[in-house]
Amino acid sequence: MTTFSDLQLAEPLLRALNEEGYTTPTPIQAGAIPHLLAGRDLLGLAQTGTGKTAAFALPILHRLLTHHGRANPKGARALVLAPTRELASQIDESFKAYARHMRLSHAVIFGGVGQGRQVEAMRRGVDVLVAAPGRLLDLMGQGHVDLSGLEVLVLDEADRMLDMGFVRDIRRIVAELPRDRQTLLFSATMPKSISDLAHGLLRDPATVQVTPPSSTVDRIRQAVMFVDTENKRDTLKLLVDSPKVERAVVFTLMKHEANKVAAFLNDHGIVAEAIHGNKSQGARERAMAGFRSGAVKVLVATDIAARGIDVDDVTHVFNYDLPNVPESYVHRIGRTARAGREGWAVSLCDAEQRAWLRDIEKTIAKKIPVVVEHPYHSETASNSTLRPPVLGGGGGRGRGGGGGGRPQQRQGGGGHRGGGGGARRVA
Ligand code: AMP
Repeated sequence: MTTFSDLQLAEPLLRALNEEGYTTPTPIQAGAIPHLLAGRDLLGLAQTGTGKTAAFALPILHRLLTHHGRANPKGARALVLAPTRELASQIDESFKAYARHMRLSHAVIFGGVGQGRQVEAMRRGVDVLVAAPGRLLDLMGQGHVDLSGLEVLVLDEADRMLDMGFVRDIRRIVAELPRDRQTLLFSATMPKSISDLAHGLLRDPATVQVTPPSSTVDRIRQAVMFVDTENKRDTLKLLVDSPKVERAVVFTLMKHEANKVAAFLNDHGIVAEAIHGNKSQGARERAMAGFRSGAVKVLVATDIAARGIDVDDVTHVFNYDLPNVPESYVHRIGRTARAGREGWAVSLCDAEQRAWLRDIEKTIAKKIPVVVEHPYHSETASNSTLRPPVLGGGGGRGRGGGGGGRPQQRQGGGGHRGGGGGARRVA
């Protein structure tokens, strides 16, 4: 088996990895690092959770250690583009961790906060800049950032950046970079838009693909509990109270539900924070910092807000609401059992979400074991044949059975239902 020393990384990096407790490279690391150390461009097909951040951060740091040089004023030697502020901050943190035994100047640039500190951080130039495309382009336009001396470009989560509409910003940024550079593109999926982008940016790239972390999914112990809607909160409290739950992410479909669930848990002595699109950047960062440090036991999140959550040691994922898009189920439960650990994913299913559970089981080609031995088990939910609610006033992506819009779009049209009738709470 390959070890980090087999990869011939510089000693200060090996020491840092050892201290991080990493013993063996993950497949994306073992596959990508030799090509990157040899200076090749790379197309990496890998999802978050596979260790891809270290796969690009380590060779970049190795380069900084072995190819001495200085960034130009306002410049950077390496640039990592990432879709969200959360991800950008996490990448920066990873660089810091792996670079703890070397000198590294670094900066992060993203929107939603004042630009003053970012401009100041870039004034003398940095080794590593991690940036979200929109704000970076803005600062380049204002003359605060000059990337004409860049050596390495990384596009991380390229598919998400394209989904979020950043393709033009990316192209404009790339147009300002030297042609003679090393370029890395990481993406979880490979639609045509990504292969077009890769084709335009990469020169004779090595391709490294790691299969979706099915091994991770295999390590996740899944369960479903059938409960009536009005008993979900008490069921969740019962679950979260267990000493086995060290750090948990709870998913709700709607933002206001996330707030309510967090408030309920706090009222019962369980430290919880809600994280969703209506929260300010500061509030989200505080919640994430508390969660990372362990001060916050439970993070209650909507799907979109959860994209940026990248914390190891999440012992449990609870689906307070099942997702109406089956693929979201896979993304959600992938928040646990990371980096070789085990994790639990427990879903609370009420009568209305019963049909979604069937869709999820079809997608993952597996029956999720049902737990009935608990005070809130509901046969009604278990046997429900209700059709899923029609969401978001009908504008969403149609799915068999009438499901539709993404969870966040439900906010406006929340109470619409298909066929079944009954009492969904619309708070
Ligand atoms: P990423 O896919 O970059 O989000 O990485 C997922 C998590 O795996 C990171 O937060 C790291 O803490 C962890 N990790 C990365 N590489 C290794 C490794 N070689 N051994 C153990 N854990 C790792």
